[in-house]
Amino acid sequence: MSTQTSYRKLFGTNGIRGIPGKDLTLEFVTEMAQSIATYFASSEKSILVGKDVRNSSPVLQKAVLSGVLAAGVNAEEADIAPTPAHQFGTRTLGYGGGIIVTASHNPSQYNGMKVLGPDGVEISRDSEKEIEAIYHEKKYRKADWKSVGRSGKETRVVENYITGIMSQVDVSKIADAKPTVVMDIGNGAQAVTAPYLCERMGCKVITVNGQPDGNFPGRGPEPTPANLKDLSEAVKSYHADFGVAYDGDGDRSLFCDENGEIYWGDRTGSLLVDFLLERHKGGPVVTTVSTSQLVGIIAKKHDALVIWTTVGAVDVSRAMINNRAPLGLEENGGFFYGPHIPVRDGAMTTALLLNALASRGLSFSKTITSLPLFYQKKAKFECPNDKKSAVMKELELKNTEGKIDRTDGLKIWIDDHTWILLRPSGTEPLIRVYAESDNEERMNATYDRFQALVKDAIGT
Ligand code: MG
Repeated sequence: MSTQTSYRKLFGTNGIRGIPGKDLTLEFVTEMAQSIATYFASSEKSILVGKDVRNSSPVLQKAVLSGVLAAGVNAEEADIAPTPAHQFGTRTLGYGGGIIVTASHNPSQYNGMKVLGPDGVEISRDSEKEIEAIYHEKKYRKADWKSVGRSGKETRVVENYITGIMSQVDVSKIADAKPTVVMDIGNGAQAVTAPYLCERMGCKVITVNGQPDGNFPGRGPEPTPANLKDLSEAVKSYHADFGVAYDGDGDRSLFCDENGEIYWGDRTGSLLVDFLLERHKGGPVVTTVSTSQLVGIIAKKHDALVIWTTVGAVDVSRAMINNRAPLGLEENGGFFYGPHIPVRDGAMTTALLLNALASRGLSFSKTITSLPLFYQKKAKFECPNDKKSAVMKELELKNTEGKIDRTDGLKIWIDDHTWILLRPSGTEPLIRVYAESDNEERMNATYDRFQALVKDAIGT
């Protein structure tokens, strides 16, 4: 049927995002929660409502709880925990769905909502559209005084998550290696889980920016190789085996080796894929079109298939489920381990890396430098949301040569090992540019040429 009305989109790449009091008013959040609860109501199970460390998270969590209860659906309130802990809790503690109040890695003024299905994975794009229709048509349930939902506290999320992760790795092998790990928590939600998980597996743990704080006073909620100098320094001065940094809600992780060298997620992710494909023969491995071709090379070595998706954690998770894939990864530090839960998970990734290094018996730097080397550059250019499609159209018209992949944005293969990807961000007013090649000079030349075209198209 093509008569469906299309509504203003409320969900971005990863749920709903905005600034509380401005876009995320209490009225909006409550009615949205009512709409989400209406979507889940048929299961007759409780909804888990979790939160991250942001200053506005407690008030928004109350608004979400009010909305769910007002729709006549039961809800349980969970305390601060990483997004993957709430996701694992939603799946394993018997919930009909989940709502997490979080804005992941966005700056501290932002907040948002991630909506989870009963499997703990963020709901599909079609389900998002269904909820948007319920919201816009005001078709959400309004329970009367005797049928409002009931609520209580869910206190098992953290312990359930830690024991779930430990059941997926060889804890005694990790403990025997007696690793020292420096963790840059970034004042985020992994503060309540990752250090305790690693201590329980026999690691010596040192934390940087270890206090949960909604102002993110340390290095901010988004880890990038450029803002992890404190982590690098701490790893060197404590002679640690490696360092790890998490984003605000703890689903992404970036690592540095024992020399303090920081790697993007596709390089450490490929190291893990190399290790885990021995356990999960044939894969497949799911990743996004912005990820390094290194993943393809590692998978080929193991005769495993790679499925390339649009950029977005939900896209990777859903493709993993549809293809029964045990492994998924993103270049930004998202790694997904299906046997635990097919969502990106910073603490699960840390445990897998500990397992890989303990099994190999080699240092992090030796393990990672054994992988083929590719040169990369990533950048973002400000572009108003309403201008994005015109900019992309112009770039497409100007670039018709080479092998073009339109899975997400415009990916152009310049030669067999050189590509450039131009794509509008799904969450921010930005055009992102990614370049990769096995040849540094060619990578730089390709990047320079295309960043000029992007700037020109945006008109800055
Ligand atoms: Mg995140």
